[in-house]
Amino acid sequence: MDVYLDYNATAPLRPEVASAMTAAFALCGNASSVHRFGRLARRAVEDARETIAVSVNAAAAEIVFTSGGTEANNLALRGSGRPVLISSIEHDSVRAARDDPGLIRVDSNGVVDLAHLEELLNAAETPLLVSVMLANNETGVVQPIDQVAALAKQFGALVHCDAVQALGKIPLSFAGLDVDMMSLSAHKLGGPQGVGALIIRDGLNLVPVQRGGGQERGRRAGTENIAGIAGFGAAAALAAQAVEAAPELVDMRDHIEARLRAAVPDAIIYGAEASRLPNTVCIGLPGVTNEVQVMALDLAGVAISAGSACSSGKLTPSHVLQAMGASDDAAASAIRVSLGWQTSAGDCERFIETWTALAKRRESCELPEQSVA
Ligand code: PLP
Repeated sequence: MDVYLDYNATAPLRPEVASAMTAAFALCGNASSVHRFGRLARRAVEDARETIAVSVNAAAAEIVFTSGGTEANNLALRGSGRPVLISSIEHDSVRAARDDPGLIRVDSNGVVDLAHLEELLNAAETPLLVSVMLANNETGVVQPIDQVAALAKQFGALVHCDAVQALGKIPLSFAGLDVDMMSLSAHKLGGPQGVGALIIRDGLNLVPVQRGGGQERGRRAGTENIAGIAGFGAAAALAAQAVEAAPELVDMRDHIEARLRAAVPDAIIYGAEASRLPNTVCIGLPGVTNEVQVMALDLAGVAISAGSACSSGKLTPSHVLQAMGASDDAAASAIRVSLGWQTSAGDCERFIETWTALAKRRESCELPEQSVA
């Protein structure tokens, strides 16, 4: 049986989500229509909104449904109109949302440098938007968002937090973090792909990016994705339960890391000294590109991912690991293993055995020559 260890890319759909979506597919109304069919569709949307709001300690009216985390990040960064500061480890959907954002440094563990943030805020001539993710998708490193928010507010800045990788993995409270906006995506927690939300603090007005009808109280035009939203609601209803199961993931993650370190002493575990998501291992195997590792594991039936982006057939080293001080070669030899609700100890064992066997072949020079982009 194949082993899936790529939950940070997307998590398998939970059965409860599939049931909620099947029920929602049977609704034929448009949520904007006033007749009974429309009202039933509206009810499905509003019920999901309420459930999601409870799961992240926000008010239902603060939630704006989007087509996913990418759109939520774009709405936050483009809708505020302010110059932006982002951390140097943000997801591409934050990095590309605006031209020339200011970059906040991170330390060698991938934790945002608050002193550098203060320096940048001090130097700014106009009020800014600061965008820092809660948990990094490649390393799992969790950022001190409460401290980022407190500091930014001293300088009159707005704060956006990409919490896409956090929901369902660690406790998450919009009100508790005291940020102005927060992005979510359903498919990272066992919900469907193609739906997410931006939570916008009550009273904050953004310029809509998606324009047209008055859906989402004028903040995001377009007919609602009823089945997707219902599935998102069902996944969010399970988020607290998933967080409670996190200690099991921590045990599996720590076991994987201990075994890999023991078998391959020169392996590098990124973010190991920082607070991290329970489910994420980012590990480098010096001398073997992540491309080779991903392919070798895939051939053995184990799905993991490279910690870098592949565009036009060229694998570029991860900007996240580079920001943490990794060389191009080191960054290009790191993979990400991410666990989740269906992961078993047997799955971890399959990965450990396959990866350590690959590392042994490296020592006996049986691997193809490496070229690093
Ligand atoms: N932000 C982070 C941290 C992510 O990991 C991802 C997806 O990988 C996104 C944003 C984009 O979310 P979506 O796939 O829903 O567009």
